[in-house]
Amino acid sequence: MCKNMGLGLGLNLTFNNNRLNMKELQKKLAQYTRPQEAKKAGFYPYYKVIESPQDSEIIIDGKNHLMFGSNSYLGLTNHPKIKKAAKDAIDACGTGASGSRLLNGNFAIHEKLDAMLAEFVDKEAALTFSTGFQVNLGVISCILGRNDYLIIDDDDHASIIEGSRLTFAKVLKYKHNDMESLEKVLQKTKPGQVKLIVVDGVFSMEGDLAPLDKIVVLADKYGASLMVDDAHGLGVMGPGGRGTSMHFGLNDKVDLIMGTFSKSFASLGGFIAGDFETINYIKHNARSLLFSASIPPASAATVIAALKIMKEEPERIDHLWENTLYAQQKLRENGFDIGNTQSPVIPIKIGSDMDTFLYFKMLLENGVFINCVIPPAVKEGSSLLRFSLMATHTKKQIDSAIDALIACKVYFEKQPVNQD
Ligand code: PMP
Repeated sequence: MCKNMGLGLGLNLTFNNNRLNMKELQKKLAQYTRPQEAKKAGFYPYYKVIESPQDSEIIIDGKNHLMFGSNSYLGLTNHPKIKKAAKDAIDACGTGASGSRLLNGNFAIHEKLDAMLAEFVDKEAALTFSTGFQVNLGVISCILGRNDYLIIDDDDHASIIEGSRLTFAKVLKYKHNDMESLEKVLQKTKPGQVKLIVVDGVFSMEGDLAPLDKIVVLADKYGASLMVDDAHGLGVMGPGGRGTSMHFGLNDKVDLIMGTFSKSFASLGGFIAGDFETINYIKHNARSLLFSASIPPASAATVIAALKIMKEEPERIDHLWENTLYAQQKLRENGFDIGNTQSPVIPIKIGSDMDTFLYFKMLLENGVFINCVIPPAVKEGSSLLRFSLMATHTKKQIDSAIDALIACKVYFEKQPVNQD
């Protein structure tokens, strides 16, 4: 029997996978009917079709909805200057790069972007990949070997976990943000061996920060290198949105910074930044870079334009933080459990999968879109709604969304407890 690693949709499906030919494969996969069942029951929350640009309001099923489930923290995906930059890049370079950067898909705009990213995160060099997921897969698998150690937080992003499955290094996990647990793990490693700690700067589901101030002390003590996945930190944390390590004033202690373009940078792609030698090694060894086509010039141009706007319009980040603090306070005051979030990613903890689906459905019917998060994205029994702020939200929009959440909460508090 093998464990179902896809979306469980709240039900415990396992299946027999000891059949090998195609027909048996199809039979096996056909047993996975949870999405269809959820659709029939009317609470399937995924793959919603968005019929407008992604902004603080979106159109679904022809109707306006408040968007509180976007990672576009700075609200740049619909910015006229950014859209113009993408269009201009298509006119200048065409629509696709038609190959990997290594061989034939490396345009001047990719090189320019690498240089701008290195400067932005204050590292010697940076290297753009096609997605953030591919950065974690490619980097983690190529820089560590058989006798090395990879040390990861229990709550690290799925792409780091996938990277850990590809590496030949010994993989050691520690309890989420628990420094005693991290030290115990480090004590198990052999002195003189290569060790890499990889953490999310801002954890993607709970919005809490990795305690980099404490992690760097342990990393120094045990001679470990440190890589921070700052997918949710760039554009958000630190002066000028330059990331979680800058927020802690510890940029020089963080060896590698990973970022994605799919959140604050309003595009698609990802990068790794660090010292020249490490980036040079990754550039010639990361298989998810070498054997995958580079991002289209328009996607690179989008990020370049976003970086410029972040400098020209610093008030965007200020506004994002005003919105974040306002929403966090209001949610707490109204009795929502929002955990230890310290960022615009606010988890509204529900618990059971079914209640989370029902909350989502009710909110959507009331014109509010929020992300519905169930295992394996979070632990069993810890399902949540992920409420994310954008710089472009107005106070009125935040108030309306929270009022809708309060109405759902009042409704649920009157219902008998759901045991799914
Ligand atoms: N790391 C983290 C923490 C993320 O949240 C994500 C995206 N959800 C990624 C990596 C992958 O980034 P991308 O969307 O660019 O593949």
